[in-house]
Order: sequence, then structure tokens, then C-alpha cells
Amino acid sequence: MNNTCEKHQICPIFNGILKDKQMTAKSYQNQYCNAGETGWNKCKRFLVVKQIGSCPPNLLPNSFKSVEQIITEMSNKEI
Ligand code: SF4
Repeated sequence: MNNTCEKHQICPIFNGILKDKQMTAKSYQNQYCNAGETGWNKCKRFLVVKQIGSCPPNLLPNSFKSVEQIITEMSNKEI
């Protein structure tokens, strides 16, 4: 079974905002992206995309905000 998140190729956490922070990126990969469904389901990016199909590009997997809070903030920005 593949334990890697299906979104890893398009996820900006690795090819965008963390490209200069390889240690941090590696730690996120171990904790979330390569940790199977249990790991993905702890990632705020994964959970927000699962619910509404997109998420803020700079959102971190371990954001202190709740999924609901993130989605509310996104919809407020779209007004
Ligand atoms: S950060 Fe989250 S959404 Fe991105 S690849 Fe890792 S588990 Fe998937």
C-alpha cells in the first residue's frame, strides 16, 4: 500500500514555501505526508482540501487553526 499522500506532487509545502527549509519539510513528510491515511488526516491542508477542494497556499500541516476556522477565513476573503 502506498503511504504517500496523493497530493504530494502538487503540494506547495514541498515545492514552494519550504524549499529552503529541507529539515522542516522532511519532518512534515515523516509526520504527515508519508504516514498513510492516519498521517494525512492530521494534516490541516489535507483536511481543508478534502472538504472544499482547495486551501490557502501558505497553510502549514500543523496549523493551530481549526479546519472550520480556516474555511471561514477563506470564505471571508472571497467576498
Ligand atoms: S502537507 Fe498535507 S496535503 Fe500536503 S502532501 Fe503532506 S499530507 Fe498531503
